[in-house]
Amino acid sequence: MDPITGKIERLKAQISETEVELQQLKAQLARLEALLSLPSPSSEAQANDQPTESSRKWTWPLEEEEYTRYGRQLILPSVGIRGQLRLKSAAILVVGAGGLGCPAAAYLAGAGVGTLGVVDGDTVELSNLHRQIAHNTARVGIKKADSLIQYCRGLNPEVRYVGYGEHLTPQNAQDVVSAYDVVLDCTDHPTSRYLISDICVLLGKPLVSASALRTDGQLIVLNNPPATQGSADGGPCYRCVFPKPPPADSVVSCGEGGILGPVVGVMGVLQALESIKLLAAGTGKENYQGPGEPLTPSLLLFSAYSPTPFRSIKMRGRRSNCFACSASSMLTLKELKTGSLDYVQFCGVTTPINILQPGERVSATDYKSILASGINRGSLLLDVREKEHFDIAKIPGAINIPFSTFQTKSRSTSNGYSAHLEWLPEDVSSDTPIYVVCRVGNDSQLVAKKLKDLGLDRHGERFIGDIKGGMKAWKLEVNQTMPFT
Ligand SMILES: [Zn+2]
Repeated sequence: MDPITGKIERLKAQISETEVELQQLKAQLARLEALLSLPSPSSEAQANDQPTESSRKWTWPLEEEEYTRYGRQLILPSVGIRGQLRLKSAAILVVGAGGLGCPAAAYLAGAGVGTLGVVDGDTVELSNLHRQIAHNTARVGIKKADSLIQYCRGLNPEVRYVGYGEHLTPQNAQDVVSAYDVVLDCTDHPTSRYLISDICVLLGKPLVSASALRTDGQLIVLNNPPATQGSADGGPCYRCVFPKPPPADSVVSCGEGGILGPVVGVMGVLQALESIKLLAAGTGKENYQGPGEPLTPSLLLFSAYSPTPFRSIKMRGRRSNCFACSASSMLTLKELKTGSLDYVQFCGVTTPINILQPGERVSATDYKSILASGINRGSLLLDVREKEHFDIAKIPGAINIPFSTFQTKSRSTSNGYSAHLEWLPEDVSSDTPIYVVCRVGNDSQLVAKKLKDLGLDRHGERFIGDIKGGMKAWKLEVNQTMPFT
C-alpha cells in the first residue's frame, strides 16, 4: 500500500470511530436532557413513595447509569459509595501516554475518576503499538495524548478529559499540575522524573511513579502524604530515594534495551491500582498510617523471569538533606519556572559538554606528566565520582568529593562558599592548583566551573581545571589495567 492510500485508509477508520463516538455522546446528551425535563417531585409524592411521574426524579448521589457502570467496584468495602464519590470528584494527571500511561489511564477512566489529564508531546509510532495498547494502527502519526483520550472516552464518556499535546517542562509544569490531585509519572527518562517529582513537592501532590525496562519494573508511591518542604511528616520524594541520577551513558532507552509489552503493562496497571487506593480512601493524612509511625513507602520490584517475580523493599523516609523536600532546600516554583534548574544537565548528557575553556582542561596523558614531573607538586585532585566508583579504582592522591554531596552542600548555606571550603584539606594553600576528575569528563567541568564561580580561583591567580574525558580517558591513555565502571 502506498503512503497516500495508507493515509486515506487511516483517515476513513478514524472518521468511522469518531462517528461512533459522536453517537454515544448524542445518546448521553439525550438521556441527560430527558432527566432535566422531568418535573420536580412534590414532597408529598416522595413521602408516599408513590410511583407518580414526579417521583421519578433521581435524587441519589451518583447518576443512575453510574450505579450500573461502577456496580462491581461499588460493592467492595475498600471503595463503597463514599470511595466512588471521592473518585468522581478527583482529578488525576497521567504524564506520558506510552506503555505505562496507556493501561494506567484506561483503568482510571474505567473506574470513574472525575477528570483525567494526559500529557505527552509525542506522536504514535508503529513501534509503540506492541505495548502502548490504547493507541492503534489507524492512529499512527497523531498525538499520543489525543489518541489515549480517544480510547478512554470510548471506554467511559462520563469522565472529563484534558489533553496536553506537549511535554511537561519547567515552564509549563506549575500550570499543568496545579489542577490535579494526584500525578502519575509514566515517563521514561530521568530528566522528566526529577522535574515531575520537584513540581509535586512544590505543589503538594502525591506521585505514583513507575518504570519498566526489558523484563523488569519498579513502582513507588512518593510524596505521600504530601507535606511542606522541611516537614518530617511527609513521605519521601523521588530525590530522597534517588538523590543522584544514574550516569547518563548508563540510561538505556526502550529503543536500545528493549521492553516486553506485558511488563510495562503490569507496572501501568499497578499505578492505576495505587491511585485508586489512594483516592478512594481519601487523601487526608488520617488515611495513611497511625500517629507516630514513620512514613516509609515500599519500592515494589517486578522481575518477569524471576521465580519470585514480585519483591517489596521498605524504603527510608524523607532525607534530611534532600535537594527538593528538606528544610535546607532552596527549590522554589520561581526557580523552577525561570529555568535555573537544568534537568538535562543534572541528569548528564549523552554527548560531551564543553563549558570550560581549552586552557582549563588537561588530557589524561598531560596530567600523568604533571604528576611525574613534580610540577604543581601539592596540587589537589578532586575525584567527584560516587564513593562506590572511587573505591573500585582511583588516581593516586585523589580525594573523593562525590558530585551529589557537592550539589547538596552547595545549597546548604546561603552563600554556599563556606560549605565548599570545609572539605578542603587544611594544609592546602590558597594558590594550590585544583584539578577535577569524574567518570567521563562532564561532572568535572560542572564542578570546576562552580569552584570558579565561588571565587576559589582568586580572579585567575589559582588554576582550576579538569581532566578531559575523566577516568575513562585515564584508563585509555594512562592505565589500561585499571577497572572502569
Ligand atoms: Zn525529598
